[in-house]
Amino acid sequence: MYVQCLGAAGRVTGSCHLVQAGDHRILLDCGLIQGRRKDEDLNYDDFPFDLGRIDAVVLSHAHIDHSGRIPLLVKRGYTGPVYAQDATAQLCDIMLRDSASIHEHAAERINRKREAAGEEPIEPLYTAADADMAMKQFRTMRYHQKFDVTPSIRVRFRDAGHILGSAIVELWLTEGSETRKLVFSGDLGHADAPVLRNPDTVTTADLVLMESTYGDRGHRSWDETRAEVEAIAELASRGKGNILIPAFSVGRSQLLLYWMARNFDEAGLKNWQIFLDSPLAINATSVYEQNLKLLDKDAQDLWSNRSIQDSLPNLQFTRTPDESRAIHLIESGAIIIAGSGMCTGGRIRHHLQHNLGRKACNIIIIGYQAAGTPGRQLVEGAETLKIFGDEIPVRAAIHTIGGLSAHAGQRALVNWYDQFEQRPPLVLVHGEPDAQLVLQGVIRDELAAPVHIAAEGDQFNLLQPLPF
Ligand SMILES: [Zn+2]
Ligand SMILES: [Zn+2]
Repeated sequence: MYVQCLGAAGRVTGSCHLVQAGDHRILLDCGLIQGRRKDEDLNYDDFPFDLGRIDAVVLSHAHIDHSGRIPLLVKRGYTGPVYAQDATAQLCDIMLRDSASIHEHAAERINRKREAAGEEPIEPLYTAADADMAMKQFRTMRYHQKFDVTPSIRVRFRDAGHILGSAIVELWLTEGSETRKLVFSGDLGHADAPVLRNPDTVTTADLVLMESTYGDRGHRSWDETRAEVEAIAELASRGKGNILIPAFSVGRSQLLLYWMARNFDEAGLKNWQIFLDSPLAINATSVYEQNLKLLDKDAQDLWSNRSIQDSLPNLQFTRTPDESRAIHLIESGAIIIAGSGMCTGGRIRHHLQHNLGRKACNIIIIGYQAAGTPGRQLVEGAETLKIFGDEIPVRAAIHTIGGLSAHAGQRALVNWYDQFEQRPPLVLVHGEPDAQLVLQGVIRDELAAPVHIAAEGDQFNLLQPLPF
């Protein structure tokens, strides 16, 4: 009976853990590695397990760094079930197809060059047909409902408060007469964040796998965050430029729309045109609308009698490439929310191309930026950024607002773990090594708890005392 960390170990992306109990094996998440090109190339590697022996996949939430290799698993022959919370399955339906089309386009681009050089074409990582096939294997579950994934593995999803449908996964593993409980935090939300409910409290476990994205830092309070955003809007209104917000299409984009609707007057938003410039984010927004019952009470109140689009009078959804290109002509007064969240692709790169070199513009970074991504370069004060082959000077002001993050900050992570009775062994995953070392130190000092930083391939036997 063991859990083995195969991904998001010593890094944030590529979440994947193998769980074995008795004769049965399941995967917890099967996510895409994101970041530098050489890291992303790892997605093409063989899976480090025997595909034919996986009985089920259990998915914590729809973000691509958790779900993005499921179509590849299916393409390579996996025919078993994928268990996910209802809304997670709805989001995956749009996100995995979107991910497939990104891979198809990337392969087309590469193949044009290869053809010109007389080389053999490459295959995309997976296609829309693979994503469609994967979706047929999804089995949906509600929060708080216990279900058997295999005869020896029982699972329950709890609300992780990170994006719509996101789950903390409780697993009861049985071997002979022995049962142990494993808890996987998934990605934990920011307590008291707008739109979503707070992460559920779980109090018992024999072993805990916890994310550690922001293990080395806290977030500001919502009031301070509001003041910060208002100050930027005020500054921007005087400078008369545009405001660009690279945002994850699922989660952050909807939080921004909520936040702007609630603070419309205070933030002086009536003088701006607001664009949600991402078909994926627009589609995800409608999945949020279909699942209002999963949101917190304030969001339900705001959106129960009108659509999310109608809650902001000057909000435009721009689906087509032509509508998006029309925004490039606007020099001033536009707030543009577009993906990808770390500026690695998508429409935000075109908007950066048009605005980054202009002093009057403001770029607001609100989400986690993985090492090696253009978004991270901006946060770290890069003087130029390479976009579509050109070095663009960074003259726009770059603002980072941690308070709008989808992840729990350091204090919230410590507190979430502290709710477990008797300090079960804790394994840190889904973090960069520096952040993990800081979090490990804090948890050891404050709680005297056994805490280990997972390295790729680490395996923990739940029936034996753990070596940390
Ligand atoms: Zn996530
Ligand atoms: Zn994640």
